[in-house]
Amino acid sequence: SFYLAQIRTNSHLNAFLEVYNDEALKRAAELDAFSASGHTPGKLHGVVVALKDVICHKEHKTSAGSKILENYTAIYNATAVERLLAAGAIIIGRNNCDEFAMGSSNENSAFGAVLNAKDSSRVPGGSSGGSAVAVQAGLCMVSLGSDTGGSVRQPADFCGIVGLKPGYGKVSRYGLIAYASSFDQIGIFANSVEDAALTLEAIAGPDEFDSTISNEPVPYYSGSFKDENRKYKIAYFNEALEHPSLDKEIATSVQSFMVKLQAEGHTIEPVHFDLLDYIVPAYYILTTAEASSNLSRFDGIKYGYAAKEDFSDLTEFYKRSRSYGFGKEVKRRIMLGTFVLSAGYYDAYFTKAQQVRKILANKTNEIFNKYDVLVSPTVPAPAFKLGEKSKDPIEMFLADIYTVFANLAGIPGISLPLFSHSSGMPFGLQVMAARENELTLLQASKVFM
Ligand code: GLN
Repeated sequence: SFYLAQIRTNSHLNAFLEVYNDEALKRAAELDAFSASGHTPGKLHGVVVALKDVICHKEHKTSAGSKILENYTAIYNATAVERLLAAGAIIIGRNNCDEFAMGSSNENSAFGAVLNAKDSSRVPGGSSGGSAVAVQAGLCMVSLGSDTGGSVRQPADFCGIVGLKPGYGKVSRYGLIAYASSFDQIGIFANSVEDAALTLEAIAGPDEFDSTISNEPVPYYSGSFKDENRKYKIAYFNEALEHPSLDKEIATSVQSFMVKLQAEGHTIEPVHFDLLDYIVPAYYILTTAEASSNLSRFDGIKYGYAAKEDFSDLTEFYKRSRSYGFGKEVKRRIMLGTFVLSAGYYDAYFTKAQQVRKILANKTNEIFNKYDVLVSPTVPAPAFKLGEKSKDPIEMFLADIYTVFANLAGIPGISLPLFSHSSGMPFGLQVMAARENELTLLQASKVFM
């Protein structure tokens, strides 16, 4: 009931689209009875969790921040939800987000923007803005978001909390409403690295409902923080720290932090990386292409909003349903994606972007053959004012420069809330590790924090 009261007090932040008041209280009482009767409590016994509105929760609405799914009720649980519940978590509500997880400010939600709890004139970041604010403002203990190109790490950076994106295939995507399937991963917002590790341990691992899942056994992340004296081999891209889009204060803070790590005995070395300016274009070509295909299922028949009038044939019906149901940003991306996949342009855009992705994957292997982790800023600038960037989508896209790398390469990444900016806003350090190496990522993060 503490968290329910917090949510009510902070309702102006618009972080929740729905709060499961009675249900959460009932669940808490059941869990109490369960442990009182001598049963062994689960890993997340009594942990209060919120879910981004793209993660299916059986018999609860799941709308992806969109009018097209406004009245959709999930008919099954996402694997991650199933596992949260099995571990004893209490799901307290569903969080506002950018429509179909497309955006960086949470201003693309059909249900209104979310406000940053640190400064309500600023955005919380996106697309998992509501889930970030829910943890930032103390409205729950941990929350699940999704990260296709930074949607967990970037809002964690803007809100001053921990945001973990596991490597591709670590957490089942079953029941996660797809944006770009070869990039999407469910991620975790938490107040500490330990909380993120424990939550990951509960939700990760093999799942017969996701053919892209890794079959590696899940390590005991939460019990692996003993070796605080281990020294790490850390790489960074000089090009990233010298990029013209990077705020000077952020560059200086990250640089001084690296000097500090070196003084503590870690090895820190620059790695040459000349692809920085290609990764955002490659990301937006590939993700919009996948989105245009994924979102074709929302046709007004199989799911969601169906036009009632003003159509004379099936094509008209699709047009009416989708024109009303989808918001501006989603339409922009469906059109972009359809264009880059169209005959005559496919090779010029889609094939080239895939080649960039391939080169990146090779480069990533090279880096992690030599280094434990790769560090960078999470975002080039701190949280901006609401409305400040909505007129220029390209500018918004370009700010994803540091986060999309991990999704293109399929590696895990985390944003650690280590710094504070003169604007009064927090910002983070991003740490990345090799595919399947969340363990090193979390251990190093614990040492850095
Ligand atoms: N800002 C990125 C985008 O708009 C990231 C979105 C995400 O990770 N879901 O695509």
